[in-house]
Amino acid sequence: MEQFDAIVVGGSVSGAPTATWLARKGYKVLMVERDTFPRDTNSTHFIWPRGMSYLNRLGVAGKVLEQTPSFKQLEVSIEGISLHGGVPVQAVKDRFIKLHGNDDGVVDYYSGPRRFYLDKVLLDEARASGVDVREATTVQSLIVEDGQVVGVRGNGPNGALLARARVVVGADGRMSQFAGMVGAEKTVVREKSTFAYYGYFSGIDKPELCIHKRGRFGTAIFPTMEDRHLVLVYGPTAWWSDFSKDPEANFHKTYRYVAPEVADLVAQGKRVEEFKAMGRMVAYHRQTYGKGWVLVGDACSFKDQWTAMGITHSLRDAELVTGYLDRVLKHEVPFEQAMAEYHEVRQADYEDYWGFVCDGAECNPYTREHLEFFHAIQADQSKVDHFMGQVGDTIPFSRAIALDGETRALPDFIKNYDPEARNYFANLYQEAKAAA
Ligand SMILES: Cc1cc2nc3c(=O)[nH]c(=O)nc-3n(C[C@H](O)[C@H](O)[C@H](O)COP(=O)(O)OP(=O)(O)OC[C@H]3O[C@@H](n4cnc5c(N)ncnc54)[C@H](O)[C@@H]3O)c2cc1C
Repeated sequence: MEQFDAIVVGGSVSGAPTATWLARKGYKVLMVERDTFPRDTNSTHFIWPRGMSYLNRLGVAGKVLEQTPSFKQLEVSIEGISLHGGVPVQAVKDRFIKLHGNDDGVVDYYSGPRRFYLDKVLLDEARASGVDVREATTVQSLIVEDGQVVGVRGNGPNGALLARARVVVGADGRMSQFAGMVGAEKTVVREKSTFAYYGYFSGIDKPELCIHKRGRFGTAIFPTMEDRHLVLVYGPTAWWSDFSKDPEANFHKTYRYVAPEVADLVAQGKRVEEFKAMGRMVAYHRQTYGKGWVLVGDACSFKDQWTAMGITHSLRDAELVTGYLDRVLKHEVPFEQAMAEYHEVRQADYEDYWGFVCDGAECNPYTREHLEFFHAIQADQSKVDHFMGQVGDTIPFSRAIALDGETRALPDFIKNYDPEARNYFANLYQEAKAAA
């Protein structure tokens, strides 16, 4: 039987960097991936500065930027209140120092590489770092001795796989079979989520990420590879059955309702690929570790897509867990103690933001107080940047934005704002029709 220091199950954005960091620390690592790369996946792929910093620390940001544009500023427009700014680089540095003890390689730009490209870059980097990468190979069961996971059984192009290791990492995503095999229960679940419907368009001249929110809907557009834009509409899952009756028409109607000026650009562009959709994304945390095993990425925790943070958090997990596993593999700290620390530190880094994402995924209309708040910060660039830092999971929400007491006169649309009118799917389209 083959023997390794660590086996990583899943070779995507959490698995490949986990395997890479371990191999670079000198360990003998096997990474088992069911698919053959390049392959695409049903996920949009916006990566915040914090995530790009992880890619830069791993040494692959340059490869991403060879193919994908990057920007520093973005627009978030809420019920017509436009905020334009960027995540402050000092905040990204502070976050890395707090979590990883240094701010090496931190950057302040974001990018949106396609997953067929990014995932392959990460897999290639693992291989180049000395990881034994087995593609087209599925882990089917675990080898367990005295209640301890000590290896995997699988199947690949060369037949049966049988391998042992001191630690096995589950990085096999949201539908994790690994979690099922080790019995990692979901410890928290938040059912309400968004639906996401997105496509790729050419011929759109719009740099920078642009997010719009109106009522229970949201839209996003950003430039990606091959001179294309990813264009996304999302809303509450409860509306998915209505939306999906005529999704392409509803996509354009919704964009027009939420952001008419961008809808014009989208209408002038040419859709170059089939739309992709996901109707439901239930959020959860799972038990993080057990005897001989630990989870990273979506296998461990999942949350809604609407803030585009899963890739960043997967990269975070990879860097974080490998620091602890290094100490275990060097016999400095018992596995149980190191993994308990990993769980605690990860949770502390996560909890605040995870709750924010789950609340936002309910897609309740903003209240008038929210609008007054956004209107109040709009004229102060440092506050707008602070807000971008919060949404980009760099500045914790516990560091709330303090309003100075100075009040700007409220425009009529805020004075007359009625969130209740935003609550009905049918109403929205009537409104959109009337506006068209
Ligand atoms: C609609 C949608 C939009 C999103 N948009 C964004 C976004 O814009 N930005 C962002 O940062 N995040 C986004 N996310 C989240 C992001 O896609 C995930 O957080 C991220 O892919 C998680 O990475 P992972 O490596 O943990 O899991 P995955 O990417 O799911 O990878 C798991 C890997 O494990 C392999 N595997 C599974 N089972 C086995 C097995 N038995 N044996 C071997 N291999 C196996 C799979 O083939 C796969 O390659 C979005 C998610 C969704 C659903």
